[in-house]
Amino acid sequence: APFPTIHRAFAEQAERRPDKALFELPGGRVLTYGDTATAVRRIAARLVADGVVPGDRVAMQVEKSPEAVALYLATLRIGGVFLPLNPAYTGAETDYLLQDAQPRVLVCAPRRRAAHAHHEATGLVIETLGTDGDGSLLDAADDGGAQQAHEAAAGDPAAILYTSGTTGRSKGAVLTHGNLTANCEALLESWRFTAEDRLIHALPVFHIHGLFVAANMALTSGAAMYYLPKFDPDDVLDLLPTATVLMGVPTFYTRLLKNERLTRESCAAMRLFVSGSAPLLASDHATFEARTGHAILERYGMTETGMNATNPCTGGPRKPGTVGRPLPGTEIRVVDAGTGRVLPHGEVGSIEVRGPNVFTGYWRMPEKTASEFRADGFFVTGDLGRFDEDGYLSIVGRSKDLVISGGYNIYPKEVEELLDAHPQVLESAVIGVPHPDYGETVVAVVVPVPGQRPREGELLDCVAGDLARFKHPRAVRVVETLPRNVMGKVQKAELRERYGDLFAGVDA
Ligand code: ATP
Ligand code: MG
Repeated sequence: APFPTIHRAFAEQAERRPDKALFELPGGRVLTYGDTATAVRRIAARLVADGVVPGDRVAMQVEKSPEAVALYLATLRIGGVFLPLNPAYTGAETDYLLQDAQPRVLVCAPRRRAAHAHHEATGLVIETLGTDGDGSLLDAADDGGAQQAHEAAAGDPAAILYTSGTTGRSKGAVLTHGNLTANCEALLESWRFTAEDRLIHALPVFHIHGLFVAANMALTSGAAMYYLPKFDPDDVLDLLPTATVLMGVPTFYTRLLKNERLTRESCAAMRLFVSGSAPLLASDHATFEARTGHAILERYGMTETGMNATNPCTGGPRKPGTVGRPLPGTEIRVVDAGTGRVLPHGEVGSIEVRGPNVFTGYWRMPEKTASEFRADGFFVTGDLGRFDEDGYLSIVGRSKDLVISGGYNIYPKEVEELLDAHPQVLESAVIGVPHPDYGETVVAVVVPVPGQRPREGELLDCVAGDLARFKHPRAVRVVETLPRNVMGKVQKAELRERYGDLFAGVDA
C-alpha cells in the first residue's frame, strides 16, 4: 500500500496506541498520542470555523510547544498549507512575510496579537497560542466528528517553509504532501525508527530539520519525544541515559563535548546520534566517538528538498567528513556548473538533486524557480561537493562562498580545516573579500580556544605548509564568536560585509 500522507500516518499511530506518550515535556507533563489527536481535531475544527479552505495558508509564529505540532497536523488534515515563521523575527520581517504569503489565519503568541492587528483589516484571522498550551486556538469546544479530513493529492501543497537566509533573503519553498511523505518514508527506513524509540527533540519547529525530519519521525512511527523548548547541554545530558536517538546540528555536539557528563555510560541506551544542517567538524566526530563509542551519523538536506543523503544507520561504515549516500528514491549528481557535464568521482562540482522529495518551486518567485531547475528536472542546490569511489558525498562548501582569486578556485573549508587543527583555535571561518589585483582574496576569521591568544603570524605559518600560495589568507582577524543563525550556520555574508573593505585602499 502507498504510504499515507503525514497526518494520516499520525492518525493511524494515534488509533493504534492512544495511551502511549508522544510528548514528554520538562516538568513531567506528558501528552499521549490520543491527547495529541484530540488537539489536532479541535484545532482543525477551529481553523475550518475561521474560514480556512484547502489551499489556504495557515501561518504560525509561536514559541515551541506541543500544540504547535498539533497545529501543523491540523492544517495538513484540512488541506491547508502550513507556514511556520521564526518567532525571533521582528515586526517588520513578519509583516514582509505575511504580505508575501497572504495567509488566511495567523497563529501568534498572545503578546504579539496587538502588533499584528492591523492585518485584520485585510481579512486575516488572528488566533493566539501560548507556550503553556493556552490561547484562542484551543477554544474550539469539540469537533463532534463534524469535519472530515480533506483528501489531499500527492501534488497538493502541504507547507511553505522559508529557507534559513544564509546566502541572502529567505525564500519560501513550496513542499507538497508527496514531498513530505517521500522523505519521511525514506528516512524511517534508513534510520529504522520504531515505536520503541525515544527521540530527544531540541530543535526549533519552524525549520525543516525540527519539523519534517525530527518530529515527523516520531509522529509516524509511534515513538516518543523528549520535547525541549531549546537546546541546553545539561537538559540533554539528563535525558540521554533513557533516550535512544538525538537529532541535532553540529553546535549541539560541540557543546555536549564540553560537558564532563558526556561519557560512554551516559549514552548506553542510545542507538543513534544524527547531525545535519551545517558541516560537522571532523575533530568533533573523532572526539565524540572516542568519548562515547558512538560515531555521529551525518546527513545532508535543505529546505527545498528535505533530506538528500545520509550515512548508513546500520550495515555500512559511517564515513566522517561525508554526508553518506543518496536516500532511496533520490538521485544526486555532481556536475560542472558551466557545462552541466557529470563529473567523475573525486572531482568537485555543483550538487544537483532530483526525486519525489524535491519541492515544486519558490513561493511567488517563478524566475528564481526556473533558474534553479535544469531541463531534466534536477534542482541546483547551490552546494559544491564530490563523490568518493564508494558513492559517499562530501560537501565542500556553497557555490556562493567559493572564492576565485586570480583565476584560481579556493574552497574555504579546506583552509578552515587546517586552521581548526591549530591547538589554539576553537573554530574559524574563511571568506573571500574583494582585492584590487586578484579580484578576490581570502581572509580568515578565527575564534581562539578560551584563554589563548594566537598570533596572526603563527596562524598563517600553520596553514602555509599545506596550501598553495594563492590559498593563503592575506589577513587573520581574531574574534570572540562567529555570527551564526538559529540553525548554527555561520553567517558568511555578514562576515563579508564586516571585512569586505580590508583591501579597498591597497595598491596592487
Ligand atoms: P538560504 O538558502 O536562505 O541561503 P540555507 O541554505 O542555509 O539558507 P537551509 O535550507 O536551512 O537554508 O539549509 C540548507 C543548506 O545547509 C544546504 O544547502 C547546505 O549548504 C547546508 N547543509 C545541510 N546539511 C549539511 C551538512 N551535513 N554539511 C554541510 N552543509 C550542510
Ligand atoms: Mg539554501
